[in-house]
Amino acid sequence: EEQVKVDRYAKSRDAFAWAKEVMPGGVNSPVRAFKSVAGGGDEIVPVTVKSGKGAMVMDVDGNEYVDYVLSYGPLILGHAPEVVSAAMSKVMRSGWTFGMPTEVETQLAQLVTDVVPSVDVVRFVNSGTEAVMSAIRLARAATGRAKVIKCTGCYHGHSDSLLVQAGSGATTLGVPSSPGVPEAITQNTLLVPFNDLVALDAVLKEQGDEVACFVVEPIAGNMGCVPPQDDYLEVVRELCDRHGVLLIFDEVMTGFRVDLGCAQKLYGVMPDLTCMGKVIGGGLPCAAYGGREDLMRQVAPDGPMYQAGTLSGNPLAMAAGLATLEVLRDTDAYGVLETQTASLELGMKQAASDAGVSVYTTRVGSMFGMFFSDKPVYNYEDATACRVDEYAIFFQSMLHQGVMLAPSAYETWFTSTQHDESVINMTIDAAAVAFKKVAGA
Ligand code: PMP
Repeated sequence: EEQVKVDRYAKSRDAFAWAKEVMPGGVNSPVRAFKSVAGGGDEIVPVTVKSGKGAMVMDVDGNEYVDYVLSYGPLILGHAPEVVSAAMSKVMRSGWTFGMPTEVETQLAQLVTDVVPSVDVVRFVNSGTEAVMSAIRLARAATGRAKVIKCTGCYHGHSDSLLVQAGSGATTLGVPSSPGVPEAITQNTLLVPFNDLVALDAVLKEQGDEVACFVVEPIAGNMGCVPPQDDYLEVVRELCDRHGVLLIFDEVMTGFRVDLGCAQKLYGVMPDLTCMGKVIGGGLPCAAYGGREDLMRQVAPDGPMYQAGTLSGNPLAMAAGLATLEVLRDTDAYGVLETQTASLELGMKQAASDAGVSVYTTRVGSMFGMFFSDKPVYNYEDATACRVDEYAIFFQSMLHQGVMLAPSAYETWFTSTQHDESVINMTIDAAAVAFKKVAGA
């Protein structure tokens, strides 16, 4: 079996050995290195991708996989949809960056402000990290306050003040989770558990008048997929209002993924500022922050809060984003995603239970979470209590059977409109085998 594995991934192995010589870990974003897979490292190398089409990706050895990574969220229409390539081709014939205004930026801005209920005015940037970093700066500028509250286990990109996740329980003073981030920066970052209103209330009562904003993923998607419980978001809104604290929804993952109007529309709770990314750029480097007019007019050059970007509003990214959002607006994409992902969830649960493996699944539209856990998962503490060793076995078995999952147990699974019944059924069949491996281990 060992020999089979080596042969199946021979070209990926060579490609990765080369990559490791010239890039840290051989990758440009850490999770891609498969380090989180138990028994991984030299044993299991990340596959190097050659191409993608629809729900499938192909690696350099010619293996095909049903893809549930989908570039970690952007590819809601699947790989290389014709409408998006066509829109990009047009731009590619007429130049793709100018450092001067173009009409396509305004078209995408108009669409975004039309469909996202709380967003009156929007600014485009190049990554989710930049979007949240800028929104935080704006919240601090608008309130004149320095502190920021975030949830343990929520990821908001790698900017200094948000690279904090340590500590659990009630609230912990921010401790940087990476060397190179001075404590002087993270001591203004306060932590509360997700789905915990008591903890948020307590920290606001104590320090509310020093807090600029509470930044939260309305559906937590970076500790697996953890939806908000009951009226969590409504009460969060009330608590923030009571203390003059701005509410920032980080919808980098949820935006245009769970609804055209983002999670805020789905749950009927309006933040002051919204960060968007992933789907908004149709798979090109693009993100945005936007919100209430009075706040957004404080951004330069309308106001004094400085934020800029050489490639911001890049025409190629704008065209890809616009083409993607138009399909989402003009077709029954969300209905299709709901039906297909519901059958994925049902099939996975059934396959797990047939094999005698206990899993807890979560789902909002085309965001799906599966935890190897006997108990429900409501926050980071619950998520990190799961049996990650079992996930590693499951992941490897799925990979060998042609199903690409994220190598980390703490990622949300995504589906695209191209994940049709046959692809979902193939996934469930593979899962039946993988769960038996887990049960037998
Ligand atoms: N916020 C959330 C909710 C995210 O999921 C991510 C990326 N996974 C980011 C911010 C950072 O986005 P980027 O990787 O584009 O910088």
